Amino acid sequence: MGIIDERKAIIQPIRKAWYQGKVASIDMLRLDLLHPVISGNKWYKLRLNLAYATDHGFKTIVTFGGAFSNHLVATACAAKQFGLASVGIVRGQQDSLTPTLQQCREYGMELLFVTREDYRNRHQPQWAENLAAHFDEILIIPEGGANERGRKGAELISRFIDDDYTHIATAVGTGTTLAGLRQKLPAHQHMLGFVPMKDTTEQQHYIIEHISEDKRDSFTLIPDTHFGGFGKWNDTLISFMNDFYRDTTIPLDVVYTSKMMYNLRELLDQNYFSAHERILCIHSGGLQGNVSVEEKLRW
Ligand SMILES: *Cc1c(COP(=O)(O)O)cnc(C)c1O
Repeated sequence: MGIIDERKAIIQPIRKAWYQGKVASIDMLRLDLLHPVISGNKWYKLRLNLAYATDHGFKTIVTFGGAFSNHLVATACAAKQFGLASVGIVRGQQDSLTPTLQQCREYGMELLFVTREDYRNRHQPQWAENLAAHFDEILIIPEGGANERGRKGAELISRFIDDDYTHIATAVGTGTTLAGLRQKLPAHQHMLGFVPMKDTTEQQHYIIEHISEDKRDSFTLIPDTHFGGFGKWNDTLISFMNDFYRDTTIPLDVVYTSKMMYNLRELLDQNYFSAHERILCIHSGGLQGNVSVEEKLRW
């Protein structure tokens, strides 16, 4: 598929000083380098959905998200490149457009704002009927690309992952990326899912439901207890991001990957790993979401 060149995704070793020799190696899979907007895991969750839409004559992609959703803007940008119209259903009334939503509009996405209550009912059949009456031949992609094609697309990330990594670390929102990869990778490669929220119940259920029984013990979700919830940040996190960039030249995003690396480092400090283990961290992108903290970042 022409719009993304997968050769841009490199594996970058992290300097030993960062993990003080507590494991044998830590590498970062830089999926953030694939594309500035359709970055990281979003491309993998979208690609089979978009291919399906094109192959089956759909004209419009409809999807869902919040006002800061990386998925929404990635969909807007990718749909445009596939020659498809796009509609974004946004949760909550907005007084003004966030930079993310402005970008969605620039890519031609039509935005519909719905109350939180209406949003919660989005899986009911009359929702789809209403949408179908208003837009041309629609394909609905759930929030976060969390469908079968999204998980199958995420399986493709496994092509970058060597067999000798003992742990694969990834940030978790819906759990779609982790579920797809978990299903595909051999069980001896333990997956650590870093959830940037205090509660991981929903993601735990989602992942269990979508992987086979023999894989159910081979992933662990790590909640975030430091930063006060999804999308929240403080000066400690910003300093961590700046230090990490200085040490590695890798920019992290303020919502997902910064919290993953912060909490991974905490596990290292607690001697969670053995000295022979090899960790691959997936940089799932999301850098477009850093606009809100841009003036604090030193890169
Ligand atoms: C969307 C996103 C995630 C979460 O992916 P899921 O498949 O929903 O778990 C992780 N990291 C980044 C940077 C994201 O934008």
